[in-house]
Amino acid sequence: MEQIKLFSGQALPLEMHKVRIVEKLNLIPVEERAKAMIEAGCNTFLLRNKDVFMDMLTDSGVNAMSQNQQAAMLVADDSYAGSESFYRFESKIQELFGMNFVLPAHQGRACENILSQVYVKDGQFVPMNYHFTTTKAHIQLNGGTVVELMTEEGLKINSDEMFKGNMDTNALAKFIKDKGPENIAFVRMEAGTNLIGGQPFSLKNLEEVSNLCHHSNILLVLDASLLSDNLYFIKKREEDFKNQSIRQITKKIANLCDIIYFSARKLGSARGGAIVVRKQEDYDRMKGLITLYEGFLTYGGMSVREIEAITIGLEETMDENMINQGPQFIEYMTNELLKAGVPVVTPAGGLGCHINAKDFLPHIPQEQYPAGALAAALYVTGGIRGMERGTLSEERQSDGSETLANMELVRIALPRRVFTLSQVKYVIDRIIWLFNHRELVQGLVFELEPEILRFFFGRLTTISPWIEDLVKKFREDFGDSL
Ligand SMILES: *Cc1c(COP(=O)(O)O)cnc(C)c1O
Repeated sequence: MEQIKLFSGQALPLEMHKVRIVEKLNLIPVEERAKAMIEAGCNTFLLRNKDVFMDMLTDSGVNAMSQNQQAAMLVADDSYAGSESFYRFESKIQELFGMNFVLPAHQGRACENILSQVYVKDGQFVPMNYHFTTTKAHIQLNGGTVVELMTEEGLKINSDEMFKGNMDTNALAKFIKDKGPENIAFVRMEAGTNLIGGQPFSLKNLEEVSNLCHHSNILLVLDASLLSDNLYFIKKREEDFKNQSIRQITKKIANLCDIIYFSARKLGSARGGAIVVRKQEDYDRMKGLITLYEGFLTYGGMSVREIEAITIGLEETMDENMINQGPQFIEYMTNELLKAGVPVVTPAGGLGCHINAKDFLPHIPQEQYPAGALAAALYVTGGIRGMERGTLSEERQSDGSETLANMELVRIALPRRVFTLSQVKYVIDRIIWLFNHRELVQGLVFELEPEILRFFFGRLTTISPWIEDLVKKFREDFGDSL
């Protein structure tokens, strides 16, 4: 998005693309939404897409593609071995990151599987700014322990810190000294830190982390799945780099790391992933497992069409007007909600707008999943599908007690270039309405609780018939509007 000034002086994010392929959306009446939510066990993952108006569950695999990406998919080179599509993909990555070796994989967690199997030994530690669900699971599966060394500001819901994704480098230095480099599998930095609200690290912080790692001969691994948002924030918020191009900043970041991996469901706006390495020896250690788990080294579980789309998508990531669309919509939404008093995570990050359910629904104890209840209520209110990121997404302790999450968030994801501003304004309106009737929303209780990843498949029910109350109020306030 260009910085276009309006005559009114209002700051409005302006789309720098036009829509040429559309998908019809359906907004079913509030009574039917209530029924659908109850049938889905009050779990937004279990809704049918046909019942959803604004699908803001995630940014994974649902970003809009450009016409150039679609065009490239038609000329893909479909062959098991030696596909030209792969060589185009490889050379684009080599050009952008300045690293020599590219291992293709079918998505981000597949990269994490291979990296963890190769580098994590039983009893070793993996310090990181913050964990991601699949990353942590793979490291633990291989006997490793995740150690989060985020700065204190990172875990505050509201902060003036522009780089809440930063690592606490003093803590990292101390950790390396205390445990010894031989007990550290690698250090991991996550761009656009997902679970704390899409928050970036600064380039300066990454430099410090890199120095500490390399001083002790420890590998620095970058999870670049949400790199596009982080690149934009470095350019926008970090004084030293505001005159550098996105391409230059990307190269600087890559130069500090030994291994980079990403989910192309986010970075590149297609579906796939890759591990990118600087040294032949690291490439050699992983290539066998890529062939075993993903596929031959020139497709790695991806279709050649997706490989072509990612190649173009990566180049488009170098365009500031492309990567600023998501963050600017999110900032707009965050600011409008703040004006109405709705508690949200600040500063606005990438990926989505994050509502603080603890303050939105202070009358619901964490054991009754305030973020889960808010996600359910938001769907009933407006056909809006967000994602619970709180206690429901944790696993129980071995004694059966709850693990109370640090934060109770509902993520309203903004898949890139998918929604228009009027749709975003509608979502803001419905969230504000719900906030004004928040006392109607009550807690949830499990009806069927799976042992692992319960947030995906678990079914819950309301502790009182509050969904009916919400529908009644909606009708009072909106008449026969949908
Ligand atoms: C989504 C994501 C992953 C996992 O990628 P998938 O393609 O969903 O397997 C890993 N790390 C981060 C930071 C992510 O956002």
